[in-house]
Amino acid sequence: MKNTKEINPRDSYTQSPWQSTLTAISSTRPEAEVNDEFDVIVVGAGITGITTALLLQKAGKNCLVLEAGKVGFGTTGGTSAHLNTFFDATYPEIESDFGAQAAKQVADSGKDAMAIIAELVREYGVDCDLEYKDGYLFSENEKETEQLREILAASLRAGIAVAEAETNELPVPFDMAIRFAQQGQFHPLKYVGALAEALVSLGGTIREDSFVSAHNVVDGLMEVICAERTFSAKHLVYATHIPPGITAFSFRCAPYRSYVLAAKLKNGNYPDALVYDMQEPYHYFRSHVIDGEQLLIIGGEDHKTGHDDPEGAFARLEEYARKYYNIESIVYKWSSQYYIPVDGLPYIGRLAASQENTYIATGFNGNGMIFGTLAGKIIADQIQGIDNQYADLYTPSRLKPVAGFSEFVKENTDVAWHFIADRFGAEELKKLSELKRGEGKIAEFKGEKLAIYKDLQGKVTALSPVCPHAGCIVNFNMAEQSWDCPCHGGRFDISGKVICGPPREDLTRITI
Ligand SMILES: Cc1cc2nc3c(=O)[nH]c(=O)nc-3n(C[C@H](O)[C@H](O)[C@H](O)COP(=O)(O)OP(=O)(O)OC[C@H]3O[C@@H](n4cnc5c(N)ncnc54)[C@H](O)[C@@H]3O)c2cc1C
Repeated sequence: MKNTKEINPRDSYTQSPWQSTLTAISSTRPEAEVNDEFDVIVVGAGITGITTALLLQKAGKNCLVLEAGKVGFGTTGGTSAHLNTFFDATYPEIESDFGAQAAKQVADSGKDAMAIIAELVREYGVDCDLEYKDGYLFSENEKETEQLREILAASLRAGIAVAEAETNELPVPFDMAIRFAQQGQFHPLKYVGALAEALVSLGGTIREDSFVSAHNVVDGLMEVICAERTFSAKHLVYATHIPPGITAFSFRCAPYRSYVLAAKLKNGNYPDALVYDMQEPYHYFRSHVIDGEQLLIIGGEDHKTGHDDPEGAFARLEEYARKYYNIESIVYKWSSQYYIPVDGLPYIGRLAASQENTYIATGFNGNGMIFGTLAGKIIADQIQGIDNQYADLYTPSRLKPVAGFSEFVKENTDVAWHFIADRFGAEELKKLSELKRGEGKIAEFKGEKLAIYKDLQGKVTALSPVCPHAGCIVNFNMAEQSWDCPCHGGRFDISGKVICGPPREDLTRITI
């Protein structure tokens, strides 16, 4: 595994290949010169937050971005960076739940987001390995082929350039394949880092290592509380996946963990396309030249956060990769978290009237490069009072039926269950000596549940396993050396410090 000395930090223990590109912002202002009042405060410096702030700063608004870690610290630093005009919510599903016109709008909005990325790359001369390639989706059995035919027909009706293909570009046997024209890929941290530089050069402010713990509305202004300082602005954008605290979006979006490998092949047989199978959980493939070395990028084996064994998911992904590719070495292996929305489409834009000047952007599924970019445009338009043709479709205030998105319904019913069972279930006392080094476990000790961790030196620490967000019990993620909450995706490092998700407080340390 790569062990680059200076890397861009991420909210994870595993290292993605993008992290070797530092997003350090060269022109950040000295702290004393940062004002307290802005037009817009954006919380979160991933693709969503940085795109939103840049578009607004370009339009003459004075923006402040507050980021808990560094630029690209969240999922943007752990993505696989495909740019698609077809999405995890398929066009047949969108047609059936939102109507044919909505499916066409989703397709158009995806194309517009692709165009925004191309335009920003051109305007700021961004060197981010942006390339356009064919995208292949392929079936391996009769049931998948039937679904694929429906996807082909509905995608064409939505106005997407797609056709049946003779190949799937992979050494994987297939039943049927379809080819989407003009899909894309890029280096996400080179892209976001360059946009961050552009934002600062236009007079915008980015403040890293700035965890936002709360906001209040005072005299019509949003007052944002960030450790030792308070900032205010007319508009507040949460580009943090679900906003901190318990909101309706904690229940409308489910956290998922996804796995990726980057491998060097023995025979140079790298795919020159973006390729996706239809298995559940699915797999995808592409290639990327990183630090002068071509690598196969293969991902998938997604599961709901805290519900499967991350080490097992990596092992299954590697086994799958080795079945079809002649792998010389696995150079990177990493995982990250995304959110699936209850009705299949993201929630983007201004919140309801009671919180009029607050905006959110979440539920991007595995398509956040496109939806994060689109969110930047929708929110920037709303803040400027410009009508955006997609605002109603993606509005966070909508209430839609969930029938078409059975995966969410099936997997998120456990949220309510965890609320109850985790708090009152009784487990056998686990002896601390049973723990391996680098391992964490939930154990019972004197009638109390504890999150116990043994570090590599053998030192044992204990935390309260009760997630301060909504009271669920966290699970240990061995691969990421973190405590992950299965309910809403809050994650904590081994000292209990919150690293991502909606919790605003750390896990409580317990003396044992
Ligand atoms: C393994 C994997 C592969 C993926 N592959 C693709 C793909 O190929 N194509 C695609 O389109 N999408 C893909 N996605 C999805 C996509 O990566 C994400 O949707 C996207 O990166 C989300 O960007 P964001 O800016 O909204 O969030 P993030 O990048 O997560 O940014 C949110 C930021 O908010 C900060 N933050 C959170 N809370 C606070 C707080 N209280 N105070 C201050 N800051 C805070 C975090 O530190 C973080 O930096 C993938 C996701 C995963 C997990």
